[in-house]
Amino acid sequence: MINRERLIQRFIQLAGISSGSGQEGNLRDFLKQEYKHRGLDVYEDETGQRLNGNCGNLMIKIPGDSRFPALLLGAHMDTVQPCENIKPVIGEDGIIRSEGNTILSSDDKAGIAAIMEACDVMREKDLPHPPLEILFTVSEEQGLEGSKYFDYSLLQAGYGYVLDGGGDPGTIIVQSPCQNEIEYIVHGKAAHAGINPEDGINAIQVAAQAMSAMPCGRIDEETTCNFGLIEGGQARNIVASTCRIKGEARSLKREKLDELTSRLTDKFKAITKECGAVPEVNVVFLYPEISMDLNERVVRVAIEAAESIGLQPITEKTGGGSDASIITGHGIRCANLGTGMSNVHTTDEYIKIKDLENDARLVLAIIQQAARE
Ligand SMILES: [Zn+2]
Repeated sequence: MINRERLIQRFIQLAGISSGSGQEGNLRDFLKQEYKHRGLDVYEDETGQRLNGNCGNLMIKIPGDSRFPALLLGAHMDTVQPCENIKPVIGEDGIIRSEGNTILSSDDKAGIAAIMEACDVMREKDLPHPPLEILFTVSEEQGLEGSKYFDYSLLQAGYGYVLDGGGDPGTIIVQSPCQNEIEYIVHGKAAHAGINPEDGINAIQVAAQAMSAMPCGRIDEETTCNFGLIEGGQARNIVASTCRIKGEARSLKREKLDELTSRLTDKFKAITKECGAVPEVNVVFLYPEISMDLNERVVRVAIEAAESIGLQPITEKTGGGSDASIITGHGIRCANLGTGMSNVHTTDEYIKIKDLENDARLVLAIIQQAARE
């Protein structure tokens, strides 16, 4: 039922519209135009101003059979760099790549193209469907920033899907971690390194002691921790007065995240104080965990939809967050779906045409399944 040529052309068109994070305005204009042709309004929120970008999150509502619960479909509009003048090339092997000096932006324009194509077919064939709510977010690549600012009270949907996962079409991510961003700062005391070092407290040395006493890396099967950045000191001949360490902790379980974060923080504070320095701690909760039951509607509908079009459903867990984490945190059960995009965030990014087609087929099958049960 999918119009293969139209889908490919639209994907190429979308990829050609540069939309780095915060600069999604041209893509918004294109999408507004497209939906206007279909007689649909595109609502844009104020997130653009709040994030100093030129575009907000977009929401499109497509009325449907209200006997069935409303369904949310989402993808993000922004991409990482380099994304200027992307020229997708279709290989004889049925794979779409960039020319090699940019990303391809199948992350996440494959998702946008699949949603648009599925909705077009749904309209042309007049297929039964539930009320649909489409959400295209901004600044996902900046740490899910766009979806964090969206006003979810505008939505009726109780469940939905984001098309933004690695893995083949048919992959349903049912478990993903919550994450804390952690910043530790040691405030020591500056002194001249040669004249009176004994009057100083070296923040770098204190930080090193604290670091070596804290766990890092894999904590257990469900929990990880990393310190990825350290900076401090002013000059070679000054006892370092400050040192800043940035890190993160993730876990599939909230209790474990909380426990690990307080264990790290207690250790950091204790050692810093022991050394006569002053600790500063900044912990930011970035996004909540997702843990889905295989029998709940959002998973069931996706599995049945995948099977109905001959795709192998694969339920998986992942180590990262997505817009689905934020959406689920707002009470809308949202699964991230694999789209087949590969080598993302590199200039070797590619997607198979077959996968692009299967993405659109799967979205269409999900829409139909959602109007069946
Ligand atoms: Zn993405």
